[in-house]
Amino acid sequence: MARERQLSRRSLIGGAAATAGAVALTGTAAGTAAAATRDVDVAIVGGGLAGLTTARDLVAAGKTVAVLEARNRVGGRVVNLALANGGVTEGGGEFIGPTQDRIKALADSLGVATFTTYNTGKNLLYKDGKKTPYATDGLLGSVPPIDVAGLANAAIVQSALDDMAKQVPVGAPWTAAKAAEWDKQTFESWLNANAIVPSAKFLLDVATTSIFSAQPRELSLLFVLFYIAAAGNESTAGTLERLTDTANGAQESRFVGGSQQVPIKLAATLGDRVVLSAPVRSITKSGGKYVVTADGVTVTAKKVVVAVPPPLAGRIQFDPLLPAARDQLSQRLPMGSIGKAIAVYDTPFWRTDGLNGQVVSDTGAVRSTFDNSPPDASYGALMGFIEADEMREYDAAAVADVKAAVLKDFATYFGDKAKTPTSFVLQRWDNEGFSRGGPVAYAPPGVLTEYGTALRTPVDGIHWAGTETSTYWNGFMDGAVRSGERAAREVLAAL
Ligand SMILES: Cc1cc2nc3c(=O)[nH]c(=O)nc-3n(C[C@H](O)[C@H](O)[C@H](O)COP(=O)(O)OP(=O)(O)OC[C@H]3O[C@@H](n4cnc5c(N)ncnc54)[C@H](O)[C@@H]3O)c2cc1C
Repeated sequence: MARERQLSRRSLIGGAAATAGAVALTGTAAGTAAAATRDVDVAIVGGGLAGLTTARDLVAAGKTVAVLEARNRVGGRVVNLALANGGVTEGGGEFIGPTQDRIKALADSLGVATFTTYNTGKNLLYKDGKKTPYATDGLLGSVPPIDVAGLANAAIVQSALDDMAKQVPVGAPWTAAKAAEWDKQTFESWLNANAIVPSAKFLLDVATTSIFSAQPRELSLLFVLFYIAAAGNESTAGTLERLTDTANGAQESRFVGGSQQVPIKLAATLGDRVVLSAPVRSITKSGGKYVVTADGVTVTAKKVVVAVPPPLAGRIQFDPLLPAARDQLSQRLPMGSIGKAIAVYDTPFWRTDGLNGQVVSDTGAVRSTFDNSPPDASYGALMGFIEADEMREYDAAAVADVKAAVLKDFATYFGDKAKTPTSFVLQRWDNEGFSRGGPVAYAPPGVLTEYGTALRTPVDGIHWAGTETSTYWNGFMDGAVRSGERAAREVLAAL
C-alpha cells in the first residue's frame, strides 16, 4: 500500500513537470494508503519553497528527511494554473526582483529562467472616475500623478518610512529603540497623522493593500517598518519603493513556465522523500524521538522543521504542548485576504493602446493589475489582485459574481474588449484549506514586541521555517528560501 502511495505521488510530480496545469488540482490524491511509517533524521512539515529548501540542504549534508505536504501538489502559495488555451498562469507568488538573491539562485540551480515583467508603455491611474495614463520614466518615477500637494506629502511620508525602517533590525524588530512606540499603533493611525493630504493617503492605502492584502488599520506600524527593512539584503537596505516597484523592484521579473516550476523541479530532486496528500495532524515527543502523524503516514524523527505559516502551524496538535508564547504568537498572526483573477485574451490588446497593463485604482474589486501574458505574447493575460476589504466583500460570492465584478473593472481600465476574455481563472487564497489567506501572515499591534522572540526560537527539537520567519524578504518567495536555508543550518548544528 505504501508503494502504491509513492507511485501515485511520483506520477503527480512527473505529470506536473510535463504539464504544469496538472498540479492545480486540490483535494485528496487518489490511492490514499493505510498508514505507512518512515524513520528519518528530520521530518519536515510543508512542501512549499521553505520546506523543500530545508530538505535540499539537509539531504546535501547527508541527512535523511521526509517532507510531509498536505496538498496533492508541492509549492504551497506558489501554484501554476492551466489555461484553456494550453498556457499556464500563476495563481500565487509570481514576481521576483533585485536583492531577492536566494530564490534567484535556487531557480538558476534548477534551470528555471526569468523574463522581465511587461513594463513598456504607460501605467494607468484611475481615480475619482478619471483615467490618467502616466509614464514611469519621468521625474516622479513610478509614483502616480496625483495633485502637487499630495505628491509632496507622499514623498515626505515615503522617506520618513524608509528612515524609520533603517532603525529596525531585521533579525529582531522588537529590539528597535522605538519598538514599543511603533508597535502600539496601527499603520492607519500613523498615516492619519502623517499622510495628511487625501491623495497621499490614497497612494499609501493602495500600496499597503497591494503589499499585505490587509488594510492599514490591521497592521502594526512596527511590522510595516520591519517589512520595509526586510525588502533588501545583507548589503542593501530595504525601501518601500523596492516593495512597490516593477522596474528595480519586487515585481521586476517572472519565471518562464510559471513560478511553480521552481518547487516542482526542486521536489523532483528529492524524489520519494516528498509525501503528498499528507496533512500533519500531530507532533508528539515520545522516547526521545518525535512522532509526526499525518494522514496516511507516520514519521519518526530526531528533529522536526515546521515550514508552514504560523496560523496553520497553530492547527497542529503538539504533545507536549508548545510554550504559551509560541502558541499565543500563532494565534495572533492572521493571513491577509487575497485573490488573483486572470482574464485571457487572444492578444494583449492594451499594449497597442500604449498601456503596460498596470493600474492603480481607488475603486472596484480589482485596484491593482499586471500584464500576465507569456514572454512571447502569444496571447494576452490581464491579472488583477482582489485584496483585503475587497476580497472580504466577496466572501460568500459565487465565482460568476466575482468574474463579473473583475471584468467590469478591467473594462473600466482597458476598454470594452476586456469584457470578453477567452477564458478566466480565479484563485482565492482565503478559501485554500492549507493557506487560509496570503500573501503573508502579518502582525497587528502588540504582537512583535510581546511574542516576536518566539517566531524562530526552536522548541526543543522543533524548528521553524517559512517565509514568515525570514529576516529578508519576509512574505516573499525569497524569504521562504532563506528561511529553509537557515532552518537547515540550525538543525545541522543541533543534530
Ligand atoms: C496571491 C499571492 C501572490 C503572491 N505574490 C508573490 C510574488 O509576486 N512574489 C513573491 O516573492 N511572493 C509572492 N507571494 C508570497 C509567496 O508565495 C510566499 O511567500 C511563499 O510561497 C511562501 O512559501 P512557504 O514555503 O514559506 O509557505 P507555503 O508556500 O505556504 O508552504 C507551506 C506548505 O505547507 C503545507 N501545509 C500547511 N499545513 C500543513 C500541515 N498541517 N501538514 C502538512 N503540510 C501543511 C501547505 O499546503 C504548503 O504547501 C504571493 C502569495 C500569494 C498568496
